Amino acid sequence: MHIEEVDVLVIGAGPSGSVAASMINKQGYKVKVVEKTQFPRFVIGESLLPRCLEHFDAAGFMPAIEAAGFQKKNGAVFKMDDKQCDFDFSESYTEGWNYAWQVPRDEFDKVLADEVEKMGVPISYQTTVSGVEFNGSNSITTIEDQNSTQSQIKAKYIIDGSGYGRVLPRLLDLEEPSDFPVRAAMFTQVVDTNRPNDIESNRITVIAHTQDFWVWVIPFSNGKTSIGFVGYEENIKKHDGTLEEQFRSFLKEIPQVPERFHNSEMRFEPKQIMGYSAAVKQLYGPGYVLTGNATEFLDPVFSSGVTFACESARIAGELICKELEGEKQDWEKLYSKHLMQGVDTFRTYVQAWYDGRLQTIFFSSQSEHNINIKICSVLAGYVWDKSNSFVRSHDKAVTNLAKLLKSQVNQTI
Ligand code: FAD
Repeated sequence: MHIEEVDVLVIGAGPSGSVAASMINKQGYKVKVVEKTQFPRFVIGESLLPRCLEHFDAAGFMPAIEAAGFQKKNGAVFKMDDKQCDFDFSESYTEGWNYAWQVPRDEFDKVLADEVEKMGVPISYQTTVSGVEFNGSNSITTIEDQNSTQSQIKAKYIIDGSGYGRVLPRLLDLEEPSDFPVRAAMFTQVVDTNRPNDIESNRITVIAHTQDFWVWVIPFSNGKTSIGFVGYEENIKKHDGTLEEQFRSFLKEIPQVPERFHNSEMRFEPKQIMGYSAAVKQLYGPGYVLTGNATEFLDPVFSSGVTFACESARIAGELICKELEGEKQDWEKLYSKHLMQGVDTFRTYVQAWYDGRLQTIFFSSQSEHNINIKICSVLAGYVWDKSNSFVRSHDKAVTNLAKLLKSQVNQTI
């Protein structure tokens, strides 16, 4: 069987695979990407956070993304009943990028992957990883192309950016059940013919229908809008009929969903994902590292998935390059602990969203600017800035603030 030799093999050409491949290639190491599908391919995860831009910049992707004309996103709107809370990324505590994008991921991921190829990194599309063996300082990965032809790749490191494919977690028995309740999502993209030219056209709107059922509305610059419903599986499955009929029932039943969507044309039949949360026993091991959704995924409510994909991929790429230069790295501290600091911060906010603490904060009329800007930084993905008390002591800060605001409401009744 043919064996190709590289320094680093990257599995998957999503955001984590592309960022990692670029970081390795920049340092002059030989890197190859294998991708199961042919791009463009559909993947969910369309609302990005400003923190991602740090990594796109480091990976050299910014000119290509800017040129593609995706919808700029400069904040997020949250709605519940007749209340509204608006976060503007230009009013964030942490200094950094003050915008991100709302993107159809099929097009967006292709822009990144094409940039990687232009940098000289080969991507084998329609090629699947079917097995891996580690022997000493190398690994041998067996891949299969669209003609079912098998070949092997010898690599010093493997970066697993396979997302929902979770290649190494499955092959190396690293899967662990998430400690999050099993929730589900149903979504599609609609043709948004009567979109008003207001604040909501340039930022994601998250509608809290009930405490554990919410809706996203994400307008794109191509005239389409992504709409999704998230809740417990029994609620996502509660309507009868075809997937399209079920979806339209949700559109009509939730009063805050704009009426212009009720009969809008769908770009594809709605898709469902049941039980999206995932976790792993470890993030790295001898000769491999997991990045992006191949690691832990909590919940889509704060659009943090691609941010973690890029954060993990960039650090993994940098650490591997240093090791290839002969400098041993402290992976536990520099990789696992760093990522888990961000994951744990978002975990608090996700839990606080579903148990109502965050809704108390978001929809309070007593909110203060100096606190809002700290929460806004978290929502922009700046969850590693420990000078922000809403990052440093995330759980305590959120719990105390929610209690305070609730008691103020009770006093005024
Ligand atoms: P992916 O983007 O999934 O890319 C992995 C690639 O690996 C794919 O192209 C796949 O084809 C390839 N692959 C898989 N198996 C193999 C194999 N065996 N061999 C070779 N290649 C393989 N995140 C956000 O940032 N914003 C959002 O608004 C958002 N909304 C979400 C909504 C829902 C309902 C869910 C469930 C998730 C959402 N996410 C969101 C999360 C987002 O989808 C992921 O975090 C993100 O796509 C992870 O990027 P990645 O590069 O790790 O993986």
